[in-house]
Amino acid sequence: MSRQFAPYPFEATRHAARMPPLEHGDEAQHHAVVVVGAGPVGFCTAIGLAQQGVPVVLLEADESVCFGSRAICISRRSLQILQRLGALPGFMRHGLPWTGGRSFYRGEQVLHFTMPQDANQKLPPMLNLAQYRIEQILLERAQELSDLIDIRWQTRVTSLQARDDGVDLIVRTPTGAYRMHTDWLVAADGGRSTVREALGLKLQGTSYEGRYVIVDIRMKSARPTERPAYFDPPCNPGSTVLVHKQPDDVWRIDYQLREGEDPEEAVLPHNVLPRVQSLLDMMGETADWAPIWTGLYKANALTLDRYHHGHVLLAGDAAHLVPIFGVRGANSGIDDADNLAWKLALVARGAASPQLLASYSHERVAAAHENLAHGRKSTEFMAPPDFAFELMRTAVLGLAGRHPGLRPLINPRQTSAICYRDSPLNAWPERSAAFAAGPVPGQVLPECPLTLADGSEGHITDLLRGGFTALWFTDTGPVPETLQAWARLWNHRGARCTICTLARAGGAHADAVDHTGRLFDLYGAQSGSLLLVRPDGHVLARWLDVPLPVALAEAGTAMQALLQPEDVG
Ligand SMILES: Cc1cc2nc3c(=O)[nH]c(=O)nc-3n(C[C@H](O)[C@H](O)[C@H](O)COP(=O)(O)OP(=O)(O)OC[C@H]3O[C@@H](n4cnc5c(N)ncnc54)[C@H](O)[C@@H]3O)c2cc1C
Repeated sequence: MSRQFAPYPFEATRHAARMPPLEHGDEAQHHAVVVVGAGPVGFCTAIGLAQQGVPVVLLEADESVCFGSRAICISRRSLQILQRLGALPGFMRHGLPWTGGRSFYRGEQVLHFTMPQDANQKLPPMLNLAQYRIEQILLERAQELSDLIDIRWQTRVTSLQARDDGVDLIVRTPTGAYRMHTDWLVAADGGRSTVREALGLKLQGTSYEGRYVIVDIRMKSARPTERPAYFDPPCNPGSTVLVHKQPDDVWRIDYQLREGEDPEEAVLPHNVLPRVQSLLDMMGETADWAPIWTGLYKANALTLDRYHHGHVLLAGDAAHLVPIFGVRGANSGIDDADNLAWKLALVARGAASPQLLASYSHERVAAAHENLAHGRKSTEFMAPPDFAFELMRTAVLGLAGRHPGLRPLINPRQTSAICYRDSPLNAWPERSAAFAAGPVPGQVLPECPLTLADGSEGHITDLLRGGFTALWFTDTGPVPETLQAWARLWNHRGARCTICTLARAGGAHADAVDHTGRLFDLYGAQSGSLLLVRPDGHVLARWLDVPLPVALAEAGTAMQALLQPEDVG
């Protein structure tokens, strides 16, 4: 039920289908990994695998990147992941960063929220960019890795057969169908996943009744990039309206249909355009505007209970559907891709047991439940599910202007980095307990500015290069030979491992220097502390003041348990 009024300020390239060499209808080549779906999640998974040296075939049913209005808000955590994927510059060049928003009730401002932003941060808490542009940037990054990523457009998976040691697929193209064989299949084929259906898997959770009209318009305005939300506004009584500024003078407006409104009628231009006009009048926007696109949205809060089924891994919307309020859809899918790519790469390269993939499901299902809990609360605040909730919301909105204590109830709970607190991979919790501050096992590295070895200004997340990282805190600098030998051993066993020395201000021979003097306190670290960090930037284990040979022996046990889970008693 979507309608295009005018072109977006973006022209998608159409890509032809391509047939590989076939033998009696079978593709001759057997593949290590096939990813189904070139949306944000499929692209990120393919790029992550390729950066780890694993060849990937990426199958996409359409002939181009997506069209219409979909994800527009990309979180700091996603930007950190995109930085490691080599795609950050495009996001920063095209996107609009923002840090907060305002909520209004019947014209009165009742909340001004800001997302965490301090002097330690490298990246903004949120960046607005349309999904077609997001996919285009990822496509260009994937094309840079074309020796390892084989993108096949107009190639739709129609059925599959899971085997004990891999998956057989039938794919259809405009010039014919063929069969493919792969060791591992990643389903990133979106909310209506063919792979999920073929495996007979069902999403579980809540589907909300409320409908929202999504409208993109073109309008020049000097209004800053922030997120206004209007509850029961004079321009659209009884409804909730969200407004987002996007690049290229595009504005996204989401408004809730009132009870009893017919969705098919509601998206017709003679209903949409006057509502947009009255919203813009209320906001004081006087510039000319023109509609680009309208569509309807219905919130779902659904997930599979497992994302790992034999040799099939499900990710993104194929695995879970998160309400858009709180912007956790694409963002959580990018997190899935980041979690999965390094694990699958270790397995595909033969450096880890396939058992490692169970931790992907464990960690990301837990993350989905956290995302869904926030998404449900935000959705129910947007459109109360029952009379009691409606009464509570009216009271909160009516009082929040005068009672700051109530304002957190209106906060939109924007997405933030998830901690894998109960991950089976977290190691040596008793050692971690010795720290008075800093990231616990399962948490992502807190950001901190540093001076890098070449004298340039950088941040701690710049030190993550896609493999495991041992962060060694020191007053002076040089890496102990025992630590270097440890890294060589694990590199030899196929787990890419880098050592980074972090020295206090004035320290020499270090990979990075704590020139602000904030790092050691932020991490609760002292000279001799060691942090072992996973390729996705989550801490695996940490040692505060343990003699280095002991810490390295324990770090070795943690690596062994991660790579060969079945070997550990
Ligand atoms: C109105 C709206 C607003 C949103 N706003 C936000 C936001 O601000 N922030 C946010 O994080 N999320 C947002 N989302 C959610 C976000 O768009 C999705 O979560 C995201 O697109 C999921 O990415 P994906 O790669 O898993 O799936 P998709 O983006 O759906 O990609 C799946 C791909 O698989 C392809 N495909 C499907 N079936 C097959 C097949 N059989 N064979 C081959 N290819 C196939 C499709 O063509 C598609 O390209 C929004 C969604 C909507 C609808």
